[in-house]
Amino acid sequence: TEGEPTITSDELKNLAAWHQGVRDQFPIVTGHPELAYLDSAATAQKPRAVLDAVHTYLTTANANAGRGTYPWANRTTALVERTRRRVKEFLGDPDLDPDPAPAPAPGRSAVHFVGGTTEGLRTVARDWLTTHLTDGDEILVPYADHQANLLPWLEAQRLLAERGVGVRVRGLPYQAESGDYDHRALAGAVGPRTRFVAATHVHHVYGGDMNVHRIRAAVGPEVPICLDAAQSVGHLPVSVAELDVDFVVFSGHKALALPGTGAVWARNDPARGPEFRPGGWQGTPNTAGIASLEAALDWLDTAGTDRIARWGTALAARLTDGLRHLAPYEILGCQASLAAGSPVQRRHGIVTFRHRDIPSDDLGFILFGHGFMVRADSLCQAGADETDPKRGSVRVSVHAYTTVEEIDRLLSVLTSLA
Ligand code: PLP
Repeated sequence: TEGEPTITSDELKNLAAWHQGVRDQFPIVTGHPELAYLDSAATAQKPRAVLDAVHTYLTTANANAGRGTYPWANRTTALVERTRRRVKEFLGDPDLDPDPAPAPAPGRSAVHFVGGTTEGLRTVARDWLTTHLTDGDEILVPYADHQANLLPWLEAQRLLAERGVGVRVRGLPYQAESGDYDHRALAGAVGPRTRFVAATHVHHVYGGDMNVHRIRAAVGPEVPICLDAAQSVGHLPVSVAELDVDFVVFSGHKALALPGTGAVWARNDPARGPEFRPGGWQGTPNTAGIASLEAALDWLDTAGTDRIARWGTALAARLTDGLRHLAPYEILGCQASLAAGSPVQRRHGIVTFRHRDIPSDDLGFILFGHGFMVRADSLCQAGADETDPKRGSVRVSVHAYTTVEEIDRLLSVLTSLA
């Protein structure tokens, strides 16, 4: 019948056995059956393998990296370099150093550990953008994405202006309706002085993924593209070779590693100027966090990012299919696919909505009364185009450990409030 989520039900059935084995590996969720953690886009829960890796590292090899000649220091240095290579491998970078070096070589791709996507984007803005632009250049940045992917570029523009370098910032137009950038308007915004594009891979409010190939086609092969992959790495397969981008920035903690972890992958083409992040190889890295990141990437590869992606979109479609027939709820973004009546396959584990009569923060409290942990506010959205800041919205976001039963239970509470 119309509206029946047949495809998603099949998908959930096909993945059920896989999922049972996955869920059991997350002690915090199995230990709290009365609660449902549905805020994975903010930060993800950790599998036992990640907790164990941190414990093992801190109880058998904790030392500083890149200095010292004793075994614990050597093991820590090896961990850091191995994980740098592991990040490259996880991101589908074919440029794997046969013998990992502690500093990036010119012409090779590079991985820099940072505290998360916000710090990573600031690093690209401050250490790369401010040294590569000249007076009259233009950059394209998203105005309706996460603020972490807007404010660093505006700050770089200000720093450059202080040095007498005038840079024009143009908005990368987003269409909440289609759930993607407005590629026609984007093509019109590109000019001969366009020198850099900052884009987002998966939108943190609407859950849709952007067509990165169309951005590349619009700007041509020479213009660097920096991708905010906070909501894609760990949720779906991400390949820098396939995407053809120049920077990928992600948060380890959203990809099952510890808080305070993340990475910037840089293509580091020498034609594009001085070495990225000069001096950035000094200082003590977050070694326990890096141990957690290595274990998290191993875990994700074993579980299969393709299956995690299918699970996330199937759960999002189940929630969307249940909600869209309930009059007081308005589901935000990706409206085109909703109107077409198709199961919303393109929402990568994120569904954001609001209730006509219940303010979103109240709805958040009501849901927590039933054990659901969701995000309920203005969602750090730059520009907040169609999101009324006074009413905010409620975001439900899942990961590999989320169950069908949790989504169905949420739907029955939301139905009772309709
Ligand atoms: N970019 C996007 C798309 C996000 O969803 C987030 C976090 O919610 C960030 C950036 C910031 O990530 P972090 O808080 O790890 O720095």
